[in-house]
Amino acid sequence: MSFFENAIKQINEAAEIMKLDKDIVTILSHPKRILTVTMPVRMDNGEVKVFEGFRVQHNDIPGPYKGGIRYHQQVDMDEVKALATLMTMKCAVVGIPLGGGKGGIIVNPKELSKRELEQLTRKYVERIEAFIGPEIDVPAPDVNTTPEIMAWIADEYSKLKRKNQLGVVTGKPLEVGGSQGRGDATSQGGCYVLEEFAKERNVDPSKTSIIIQGFGNAGAHMARILSGQGYKIVGVSDSQGGLYCEAGLDVAKISACKAEQGSVTKCDSICTNGKVVDNEGLLASQCDILILAAFENQVREDNANNIKAKYILELANGPITPEADKILAGKGVEIIPDILANAGGVTVSYFELVQNQMNYYWTAEEVQQKLHPIMVDAWKRLSEYQKKYSCTLRQAAFVSAMTRLEKMIKARGIE
Ligand code: GLU
Repeated sequence: MSFFENAIKQINEAAEIMKLDKDIVTILSHPKRILTVTMPVRMDNGEVKVFEGFRVQHNDIPGPYKGGIRYHQQVDMDEVKALATLMTMKCAVVGIPLGGGKGGIIVNPKELSKRELEQLTRKYVERIEAFIGPEIDVPAPDVNTTPEIMAWIADEYSKLKRKNQLGVVTGKPLEVGGSQGRGDATSQGGCYVLEEFAKERNVDPSKTSIIIQGFGNAGAHMARILSGQGYKIVGVSDSQGGLYCEAGLDVAKISACKAEQGSVTKCDSICTNGKVVDNEGLLASQCDILILAAFENQVREDNANNIKAKYILELANGPITPEADKILAGKGVEIIPDILANAGGVTVSYFELVQNQMNYYWTAEEVQQKLHPIMVDAWKRLSEYQKKYSCTLRQAAFVSAMTRLEKMIKARGIE
């Protein structure tokens, strides 16, 4: 089953539970607009190479389309459609006035020079210019896209429009109209949700061990915040493999070592009896909470049974397939789903857009003061739906999102 089919399956399951109007299901099962573009780029060796990219606009009933752009050699249209659909659901779960979109370019950015990457990014903006804008569709960072790339997008779009339009994209550096707190917003939001979850399930951080798959932006920040709260981080991983340390890892040391050595797998000396494991080995290692902060489709039918964690938090988008979801539910593993757990990122993106439009900026404290209640309230709604329908948290999240979307779609009229 493809990633997009998985997303539709999740919509259908929740629709069944809440007895959602069939028309709403039909509308939410189809992205409103799908763009495919090609960008010729003159490479440093003088040759012209053509790259392919996408932008999928799933739904803009609540507000402008919103969602990141990923640069990856395996990006495809199906994936971008799925991610755009999840963005609509995510924004509705936290109740921010934005719809869902997603973009992608088929490229391994590590193989491009900075000049080539900038050319590619600027060409992509030129191609989709007519379809994006602060009131139309607002991209953001995703896998392999950085604040610097967002600055190029804001600059190129502003040039094309002949006026400053910084709100065309979020996740920008502070000096280009970025928001305080955007860099670690995904992890911070995930931590606020985990805090509420832990209270309801009587989880004591000082007695709880955590493995984090993916030590990129989101995973590394999450490790830092959680270890500060007293949780024991026993495993981390990156694209080259994982490191497991039963005694607990010093997160500052592991971050410094990864920055220096390039991978956590080269850092076993920072922990007594540290074990270097492969990705599957890490997922199957002993821990209380597993945080998935890497890619989609990491826990599947073939490896779901190996999971030992009692709880999973999805910081990545779509890391567990529906088949694996069933297996994990059967084992009593509870999952805090992506569309809630990682919604802190898009929520602070929303704050960034608002600040750009006002041209007035908030302090880091103000951002946290606004983010915290949004995440807590979203969790409370989910928790209530979970009890009301005796369903999983993922089903409750889709129910919560679609309850909101149904009202909006009907208020505006379907025809
Ligand atoms: N790419 C992030 C996500 O999947 C952030 C999107 C945004 O900030 O618009 O939620």
